[in-house]
Amino acid sequence: MDLSVVIPLYNEEESLAELHAWIDRVTAENSISREIIFIDDGSTDSSWSVISGLCQKDSNTKGIRFRRNHGKSAALNVGFKETLGKVVITMDADLQDSPDEIPSLMAKITDEGFDLVSGWKKKRYDPITKTVPTKLFNWAARKVSGIYLHDFNCGLKAYANDVVHNIEVQGEMHRYIPILAKNAGFGKITEKEVQHRKRKFGVTKFGWERFVNGYLDLITLSFVSRFSKRPMHFFGLYGSLVFILGFFSALSIGVLKLFRLKTGMDTILVTDNPWFYISLSCMMIGTILFVTGFLAELIVRSSTKKEQYTISEKLNLNA
Ligand code: UDP
Ligand code: MG
Repeated sequence: MDLSVVIPLYNEEESLAELHAWIDRVTAENSISREIIFIDDGSTDSSWSVISGLCQKDSNTKGIRFRRNHGKSAALNVGFKETLGKVVITMDADLQDSPDEIPSLMAKITDEGFDLVSGWKKKRYDPITKTVPTKLFNWAARKVSGIYLHDFNCGLKAYANDVVHNIEVQGEMHRYIPILAKNAGFGKITEKEVQHRKRKFGVTKFGWERFVNGYLDLITLSFVSRFSKRPMHFFGLYGSLVFILGFFSALSIGVLKLFRLKTGMDTILVTDNPWFYISLSCMMIGTILFVTGFLAELIVRSSTKKEQYTISEKLNLNA
């Protein structure tokens, strides 16, 4: 099997048949052997019956249905596990991504040896309320990850099969799959300009919360990728620094007070000195950070989840 097309969808009944026919045409014209995997993310319209119809006509069209809406990330994650193709392409179900891009995206993986090719919607057909925050979001993601992509969250992406079997797309991390891939050791990442189209049917499934959530997820991701195995290196360091700062300033307040008393100078009560409260807060915050790091370290150690290593090859062993 050359290609698996993974399509997460939520209430996209009008688009599915057209999308399927289009992918079918493109792959047939280029003699690509393919499977199409639809993941119905708890649609409440007739999406699933359309998918059932398509699956009946074509045994290489597959469907997975969620009992309720779990989100795009969950849909992708489950779809990824089922892929058999050498190349895996994800695309939105709303016809905003064009199946005509399939052959050139595939070539980047098979001929040029990339692990991941992300689509770049250079010219977008979205409202300005979305394009401007998106620019900001991509800038932040570039800074945090060091991956130079213009468009992290493009639904149209191509992967080598190994990549999708070695990442877990949890929460709403579908926005950051290139970062997940890089963290798993798949560093050959590039982008390719793709055409973007206006949504033909239905409405977008994400509201303004996408930007808040996207921003919070980015912080989580940058933290988790650096410190999840060694939280004490973060909390312990800053906790100690803040504590030491507070401790020495409290000490100096005390010493100064004693010195002034001894030499008979005018002096105020320690508790009337504003610096006293600042040092006290610093010592408390420092302790809290330190203890947090310690607890986090214990949690990491006792968690039974096995380590996620990405193994690229095995010799004389069962794969
Ligand atoms: N989607 C999904 N589950 C959700 C929300 C969206 O599977 O909870 C699918 C949706 O059907 C579409 C793709 O994710 O195929 C992208 O969503 P949408 O077009 O609404 O996002 P936008 O293009 O506005 O970024
Ligand atoms: Mg869309």
